[in-house]
Amino acid sequence: MLKKNRIKSEKNSFFNCIERNFDKATKFLSIEKGLLEQIKACNAVYRMHFPVKLGKEIKVIEAYRVQHSHHKLPCKGGIRYSIKVNQDEVMTLAALMTYKCAIVDVPFGGAKGGIKIDPQTISTEAIEKITRRYTSELIKKNFIGPGIDVPAPDYGTGEREMSWIFDTFLSIRPEDVDALACVTGKPVSQGGVRGRKEATGLGVFYGIRELCKMKEDMLSVGLDIGLIGKKIIIQGLGNVGYYAASFFHNAGAIIVALAEREGAIYNKKGLNVSKVILHLKNTGSILNFPEAINIENTEKALELECDILIPAALENVINKKNAEKIKAKIIGEAANGPITPEADEILEKKGVIIIPDIYLNAGGVTVSYFEWLKNLSHVRHGRMEKRFSENMNSELLQIIETVCKKKISPEDKRTILRGPREIDLVRSGLEDTMISGFHKIRDIKISSKIKNMRTAAFVLAINKIVDSYEKLGIFP
Ligand code: NAD
Repeated sequence: MLKKNRIKSEKNSFFNCIERNFDKATKFLSIEKGLLEQIKACNAVYRMHFPVKLGKEIKVIEAYRVQHSHHKLPCKGGIRYSIKVNQDEVMTLAALMTYKCAIVDVPFGGAKGGIKIDPQTISTEAIEKITRRYTSELIKKNFIGPGIDVPAPDYGTGEREMSWIFDTFLSIRPEDVDALACVTGKPVSQGGVRGRKEATGLGVFYGIRELCKMKEDMLSVGLDIGLIGKKIIIQGLGNVGYYAASFFHNAGAIIVALAEREGAIYNKKGLNVSKVILHLKNTGSILNFPEAINIENTEKALELECDILIPAALENVINKKNAEKIKAKIIGEAANGPITPEADEILEKKGVIIIPDIYLNAGGVTVSYFEWLKNLSHVRHGRMEKRFSENMNSELLQIIETVCKKKISPEDKRTILRGPREIDLVRSGLEDTMISGFHKIRDIKISSKIKNMRTAAFVLAINKIVDSYEKLGIFP
């Protein structure tokens, strides 16, 4: 009886869901079982409890840092602040990071952190105290450092928390010349990179845009190619969801519904994302937006008519209870683990194309990699080549004008002459990463006759990780 219960709870765990996806992929590979077990296992789990004095009370805070894989160092992964944080969740998110980094070719092992607090119900001072204490706990156990483990933002955290982490690290390790690289997602004024804030949402945009260019794939779900006019629903208007919504809106897609904690709003003709954000800032809620109707039960928004559904809030929001009712033809997993394996099977039978989280939301870690490189090289991206490119372009233009005996307009000149700024380089690196990642997954899917993109993405990730284990010579 005891064993049966244990197996049942394991089957339902979030970590087990990822293992099931991993196992599906291994059927397309011939890799030694022991090595696969090593890749799946979490290398280190640090669970901590520490006291923090909040007002007159002492509160015991539960927190985690999980390093899923040490096959490449440093480990890398965000820190989540949520009352739902637990060991299983942090382990799963850390594992997803390992596969994500492998897919987009960034040289990190996966990690994740979590603090079990609700940042919406405690003061800024309390969040700062908890963040700083958490950082010093990580330092004590050697769980943070530019070459060891590099956190980043995730659900409930952002630039502000990352700068507190950096400041705490620097105050304890002032001699570390690379201290800036101990955390990414920092504000630009504190060593952050331009383009990090919107990177995950922009990566989601690039990934879905690439799928929408594929004639065969679009035909299989009865859609035309391109983004213009595509009806989109987004759940979660936080860092990832907000930027994704803005990029799709600007590209001519129609955002028919946006869902938040308190409810959702719908307009079949499309919502103006900036106006919704202004309304949210002014009223504290997306509800009662003048150009939309309210949907009180926010989960129902996922079931509305649309072409593309983008869950960008939390895990397991599409499950066996609502999967059958989903009408979207494409689901872009901006959040981590928004679809349970049971729902995955139902959706696959319905012919829905799912772009998996381990690829689609990797824009954040990609640009975090650029930030880490900037911090280690101690030079802004583009500083060395900007002026050189502008001078070269200028000489080229003069030659063209002489040969063609024609003057180029000052506006055109300005556009052609401009050398790359940091933001241009970051965005082009991100775009290239997302496009090439998409095609690597799609090529594997086609060549190995795999039915879905998730399994193909796992095949790509596992192959990459096995490669680096072999290069390390760990298993002679
Ligand atoms: P965030 O805290 O900035 O935003 C999350 C948003 O979801 C908030 O606006 C919140 O109010 C909303 N929300 C919460 N519960 C909801 C519900 N039941 N229905 C609708 N909305 C709800 O977090 P984020 O950084 O945007 O992360 C969102 C997801 O993307 C998470 O799964 C995270 O792990 C994943 N992710 C984030 C990054 C990143 O760079 N921030 C990178 C990769 C993956």
